[in-house]
Amino acid sequence: MTLPNFDELLKKYARLIVETGINVQKGQSVVLQISVDQAPLARYITQEAYKLGAGEVIVQWNDDIIQREFLQHADEKYLNNIPPYKVDQTNDWVEKGASRISVVSANPDALAGVDADRVAAFQSASGKALASLRKATQANKVSWTVVAAAGKEWAAKVFPELPETEQVEALWDQIFKTTRIYESDPVAAWQAHDEKLAAKAEELNKEQFSALHYTAPGTDLIVGLPKNHLWEGAGSDNARKEKFMANMPTEEVFTAPDSRRVDGTVASTKPLSYAGTTISGMRFTFKDGKVVDFSAEQGEEVLGKLLETDEGARRLGEVALVPDPSPISQSGITFYNTLFDENASNHLAFGSAYAFNLQGGTEMSEEELIEAGLNRSHTHVDFMIGSDQMNIDGIREDGTRVPIFRNGDWA
Ligand code: ZN
Ligand code: ZN
Repeated sequence: MTLPNFDELLKKYARLIVETGINVQKGQSVVLQISVDQAPLARYITQEAYKLGAGEVIVQWNDDIIQREFLQHADEKYLNNIPPYKVDQTNDWVEKGASRISVVSANPDALAGVDADRVAAFQSASGKALASLRKATQANKVSWTVVAAAGKEWAAKVFPELPETEQVEALWDQIFKTTRIYESDPVAAWQAHDEKLAAKAEELNKEQFSALHYTAPGTDLIVGLPKNHLWEGAGSDNARKEKFMANMPTEEVFTAPDSRRVDGTVASTKPLSYAGTTISGMRFTFKDGKVVDFSAEQGEEVLGKLLETDEGARRLGEVALVPDPSPISQSGITFYNTLFDENASNHLAFGSAYAFNLQGGTEMSEEELIEAGLNRSHTHVDFMIGSDQMNIDGIREDGTRVPIFRNGDWA
């Protein structure tokens, strides 16, 4: 590693993750999910969390290769049944209101070639078994953050033109840049960034558009928005009114669509890494909120499995606006990782909507959320549709139109 002071940067990053990411409070439990390859970062995160008063830090290690072996070779009954102790464990985290840090660093193609049925079976089983954790997270009952670390295979996929010895470092450099680690005070820099995005969200909340109309090459799509929808910027509040940052980096403002009012066609503009496989060149046709036709140039079979996950997987659960001039987009790099690619581009997500994107939503029952138009599903997968050729109009209740995006940027 030739990045000057890499160790110091890594420590600064760990500090930002616990202070701004989950905003850890005295006595709180912290759950850290991280790859075994990222042990130095895991140690710094643990140290910084205790320094800020964490009650305990629980580390859950994962590993691409071991996971691949499991999905390829494990007896089917272990794919389809998540053992009760794992369910108990996540319920225990939810009960004690543990904050959750997920560090993503996986090889985007870690599971390429593994039987798509087996992967889908496992994803569906764990989605159902760990539903309480997903619900608590999606309703912001607890603080949670998703951040990245430069995995070796991931870096090789992003920077194939660089010599092997420079790939990991180049990816760390991008991670540090986009999370503002090179600033003298990253925590303060994030506060300023958060305020900017919150102001955008506030403007859109005042408008309360009835629908958005997207146009771009391959795209002509109307997305309805539910009554009393809420746009959110970077920062969120948990049930205890503590601020946290769900994604770092983040450049999006987003809300929940009305999952019954989506019509037209949409083309993806960036590849998507899903279930360890790269899916690209996607096209979808929607009718009354549901995908009725789709194709992909690469990974079509895996895409089909995603849409079959459950009833809600064929409907949308998120609309997010990201200007094309955002720093991640301008880097021109395809990261093959949603955390980065979604912040380079306007995007939509299949699957579950966030309850906090509706006024009073976090206190509503599942039935009330469905009634309001919010999609429910065991999955949530973002895909990118933005480009510098995209225009978006807001459509008001009375049918009048307001330009929101022109040529990929705020109008
Ligand atoms: Zn998003
Ligand atoms: Zn999303």
